[in-house]
Amino acid sequence: MKIGCHVSISGSIDMAIDNAVKRECTAFQVFTRNPRGWDAKPLASKDIENFKSKLKESKIDRLATCAHMPYLPNLATPKKDGFEKSLKTLINEVERCAQLGIPYLVTHLGSHLGTGEEGGIKRIVKGLTEAGKTENDVMILLENTAGQKNSVGSDFKQLGEIFKQLKPTKRFGVCFDTCHAFVAGYDLRTERDVIETFEEFDKYVGLGNLKVIHLNDARGDLGCNLDRHYHLGLGGIGEKGISSVVKFANMKEIPIILETPIDDERDDFENVRIAKNFA
Ligand code: ZN
Ligand code: MN
Ligand code: MN
Repeated sequence: MKIGCHVSISGSIDMAIDNAVKRECTAFQVFTRNPRGWDAKPLASKDIENFKSKLKESKIDRLATCAHMPYLPNLATPKKDGFEKSLKTLINEVERCAQLGIPYLVTHLGSHLGTGEEGGIKRIVKGLTEAGKTENDVMILLENTAGQKNSVGSDFKQLGEIFKQLKPTKRFGVCFDTCHAFVAGYDLRTERDVIETFEEFDKYVGLGNLKVIHLNDARGDLGCNLDRHYHLGLGGIGEKGISSVVKFANMKEIPIILETPIDDERDDFENVRIAKNFA
């Protein structure tokens, strides 16, 4: 079972592994730098070495680690400078993953800012294709989104249409976020719902392309389009649904990453433990 959470790199990036081990993670996700800014300092070779050696010493499989893109880039933007900056950041993140030996980089598809899906999709495909030309074997994972206004990639059919345009295929995969899918209208509350939703996902995107699952409960209800993650079992999806997703992921040997909140109710330690119990 490969399961863990998003961990902090505060201090230096190798701290991610200490944080993951403390939480008894067998998988984890990081930002390779501050996710709130455009610029990133290049990774110091000493930090890269420490990251790699700590990961090796841990029991965590390198193939169960991933990085998430920072928040600002938007590949679907109609603004030329914004697109160029976003693409530059994406390429840089792919290269940082390659340096760290992280096999997967998760990205959202962005927002067309009201200018229409068609143009947005064209720009996304163009940007991703460029990033796929970098010389390494990092796989870019397209994450399904919550379906907020103007956002691209919440509908499995649309996600599949975008995905199929990307080449070379070995450089692209998908990440399934349970909160996003649920608030986008795909039911996950019962075992039956989970099976049917993944069947729908398989039909358009292909389960073989699914490399990581983001396991989050949702603050809101089915189809509300509200991207607010919640503690496992306590939100709109609930215990039955979340545990069915855990079982499904384990059966398919897909790493599970939690992006749940840390608050008075619960922290990461508890959510990871609870997710393991669901299995
Ligand atoms: Zn995400
Ligand atoms: Mn996510
Ligand atoms: Mn989210």
